[in-house]
Amino acid sequence: MNPPHAVIAGAGIGGLCASLCLARGGWRVSLYEKANVLEATGAGLQLSPNASAILGRLGVIERLTPFALRPKAVRIRRARDGATLALMPLDDAERRWGAPYLVVHRADLQRALLEAIARESSIRLQMGAAVAGFASGENSVAIAIAQGAVRLKAAGDCLIGADGVRSFVRQRLGADSAKFSGWTAWRATVDAARAPPAMRREETTLWLGRNAHLVHYPLRGGAVINVVAIVDEVFRPDGADFWSSLGEPGFLGARFSGWDEAARDLLGAAPDWRKSPLFDCNPIASWVAGRVALMGDAAHPMLPFLAQGAAQAIEDAGALGEVLTRGQNIETSLRAYQEARRPRAARVQRESRRQAKIYHLAGPAALLRDMALRALGGQKMLARFDWLYDAHHANGHED
Ligand SMILES: Cc1cc2nc3c(=O)[nH]c(=O)nc-3n(C[C@H](O)[C@H](O)[C@H](O)COP(=O)(O)OP(=O)(O)OC[C@H]3O[C@@H](n4cnc5c(N)ncnc54)[C@H](O)[C@@H]3O)c2cc1C
Repeated sequence: MNPPHAVIAGAGIGGLCASLCLARGGWRVSLYEKANVLEATGAGLQLSPNASAILGRLGVIERLTPFALRPKAVRIRRARDGATLALMPLDDAERRWGAPYLVVHRADLQRALLEAIARESSIRLQMGAAVAGFASGENSVAIAIAQGAVRLKAAGDCLIGADGVRSFVRQRLGADSAKFSGWTAWRATVDAARAPPAMRREETTLWLGRNAHLVHYPLRGGAVINVVAIVDEVFRPDGADFWSSLGEPGFLGARFSGWDEAARDLLGAAPDWRKSPLFDCNPIASWVAGRVALMGDAAHPMLPFLAQGAAQAIEDAGALGEVLTRGQNIETSLRAYQEARRPRAARVQRESRRQAKIYHLAGPAALLRDMALRALGGQKMLARFDWLYDAHHANGHED
């Protein structure tokens, strides 16, 4: 008997992981990627244990280990004077949550996934090929592929839309699109030798300021520091530069002028900035229609304030692998995937939005927040993330 065949639209972190999960469960996978080359955009990613556990099962963590770093803590600092408001130790992460907390360069994760895929003869990755239409039938899905001016036909037992925040598959299923949130993310990598010494700690540092926050952590064995500054901004990108336009450093200089010197020095050490608009959306009611399912940013676009977009895409991939390899009817399996994953992903979407409000408070509200953070202490702060990071809760095993 021929193995079942999945067609996946999009070779981002989600589509790559889903291909591996399905191939390991005996599926044949055709993975179509619109871009001609997979560019290593986006610099750093925090991989919380709920995601690293799944990558571990896929054998990808071993490949990542030489390039990944295990931060010793998450430090929360006040923008005005750099005071530490909370320190969440992460040295016990693996015992507490069942898998390591890692920070990696997105390019290193992408490469590790592509290397694993290259060893799977049942996965065919086609670059420069966009899913441009589909019709879900009783026993299969018919799919139109656009390769430049050429239109090709494909078919599969199911279609997985892993095509990102501006998903074509999502749009065709009639779901609301994600909207620009009013925030932009400015990203840079700074040579560690040029950064102030206190900023080179093996920690993830989060600075909280009025209408802005700053996150940084070391990457690649501490050789570089990944810096992300989030600000509210009027943003009218032109088409070509939509995802990643050059940021004018003077803008950040002015926005962060009242911040502690160490933060300003780090921002000043960045050789150049790329900025991207951040999108948000209310959770949608359905991710699945017949033999078609959404995953990753296509299913649940979210603000990056819990650092969970890629982690949730990886959880989707794990859940798809689990339900589709049980050998049940495909429509039933995809509905089971949605039931397992949608409530948890919706919670992460909502909590990420809530986090934005807390991070950007000003005046007396910020004062109260800072007092609460100090009173809570590291251990109680850690406990607030158990529901999210515990590897056991990934794949929909909610309490
Ligand atoms: C500033 C910032 C910081 C972040 N930090 C973190 C973090 O620390 N941890 C974390 O977990 N997440 C983080 N994220 C989120 C994370 O980057 C994304 O959520 C994640 O990459 C989404 O993966 P995906 O596979 O769903 O989509 P994408 O990575 O967007 O991949 C979609 C792919 O589909 C392709 N495509 C589009 N249309 C088609 C089509 N019609 N046919 C075929 N292919 C198509 C695209 O070219 C693309 O390659 C961050 C995001 C931002 C903006």
